[in-house]
Amino acid sequence: MDYAEIIDPATGEKVAQYARISDETALEKVRQANSAFKLWKENSYEERAAMMHKLAEVMEEKKEDYAQLATLEMGKTIGQARKELEKCALICRYYADNTKKLLANEKVETEAAKSYVTFQSIGVILAVMPWNFPFYQVIRFAVPAIMAGNTGVLKHASNVQGCAGALENAFTQAGFPKGIFTNLNIGSKQVKKIIEDENIVAVTLTGSDPAGRSVASIAGQNLKKTVMELGGSDAYIILDDADLERATDLATYGRLQNNGQTCIAAKRFIVLDAIYDDFLDRFSEKMKKAKMGKPTDEDTYYGPMARHDLRDEIHEQVQKTISQGGRLVLGGNIPEGNGAYYPATILADLKPGMEAFDVELFGPVASVIKAKDEAHAIELANNSQYGLGSGVITGNTERGEKVALQLEAGSSFVNKLVVSDPRLPFGGIKNSGYGRELSGYGIREFVNTKSVWID
Ligand code: NAP
Repeated sequence: MDYAEIIDPATGEKVAQYARISDETALEKVRQANSAFKLWKENSYEERAAMMHKLAEVMEEKKEDYAQLATLEMGKTIGQARKELEKCALICRYYADNTKKLLANEKVETEAAKSYVTFQSIGVILAVMPWNFPFYQVIRFAVPAIMAGNTGVLKHASNVQGCAGALENAFTQAGFPKGIFTNLNIGSKQVKKIIEDENIVAVTLTGSDPAGRSVASIAGQNLKKTVMELGGSDAYIILDDADLERATDLATYGRLQNNGQTCIAAKRFIVLDAIYDDFLDRFSEKMKKAKMGKPTDEDTYYGPMARHDLRDEIHEQVQKTISQGGRLVLGGNIPEGNGAYYPATILADLKPGMEAFDVELFGPVASVIKAKDEAHAIELANNSQYGLGSGVITGNTERGEKVALQLEAGSSFVNKLVVSDPRLPFGGIKNSGYGRELSGYGIREFVNTKSVWID
């Protein structure tokens, strides 16, 4: 029997194991999801919305249990885990209240007596999801897909299988019929067979770009639609008129939030020459003061990384960058003890060609880069294989907006860290993936956009 083992990253101790299901059992569940779809698509938006409101209530009622589970399995601080559950409830309510409007028929003036575009459900969607926001990432895919009339099957990351099971229970508790949302506890090698199954119509993946390439190519071979939400190395440009107190507060929170493991975290800080040394001094001071500790302690600013192998990987990236000429300003050492901790680390004077400039660092490590001037800063920001989020910190919002519009990314925020919001589309360009989640754009990814002509 194959198991997904859960190791508490704060202690290194094994806390649970979940037996993986066989290919046959997984495919049977996919068939059940397809049977469920045939009935579910006939329900009205109002009927679906009532259950979705109930799901929001379950998320709130179970907030503490679910937050503790997320903290145990992947190490996020308990306060941030609670916020994640609140956001899940927000998404449930947003789509419960807005799907009817977002998917309303669109009348088109033609020579026909009547012509319009309608949005119809398509079937069972497979979601391959990451551990970093173990409840939110799944909700972000499942809620719009299900409100649109589809059903969903989940292959969650191996280290958060308790959260995966909790999500399936939450849907059941909210009154969704069996088969609307199903957790498949399968390994990544089993994903191919599921994608190839005739009952799967589309695939969405949130994760690293190697996983995205593999899953998208299998889906491509089978002519199945995909949405890819992949990694990033978001650039934040700090202009020379920025309030440096605010800029360094944002930088510290942005880089340490979720223990440094957020796809849209600020990762590369591109700072104009005139304020570079001042920014670096203040940033180092704040990063040094941020308390690393047990994720269950309420006053911990950041906890361990989610897995020991990920911690070792980021340490190697830091060492490689130093060997390439990057300057270590803070951190950079593996602390003693059994947890997967890594300290707040700053690498400065980075240039294209260095690991920490070119590759995503998914942990509490900040890359700081000096730019000659505004144009150079934009050039450096766009010199990236990724294009997920981006930001500009400035005292002049007009100037900030002009810079923001030149950044190659799925979103650009001025004087604010990039956040996801159900009202706005979320996603990337370049190696950060394609397609969008959230808002009307997200819910229209997994529908049949159908033209109707009546002569
Ligand atoms: P990951 O290693 O790519 O894993 C993501 C999911 O894909 C997991 O369920 C994993 O299963 C599965 N997987 C991995 N390789 C696969 C393969 N070859 N075939 C099928 N499934 C495969 O990523 P992660 O370490 O969990 O998450 C971190 C990455 O996700 C970062 O790059 C981050 O930036 C990105 N991310 C992006 C977004 C976004 O919205 N754009 C949001 C969050 C995270 P196992 O756990 O069983 O290996």
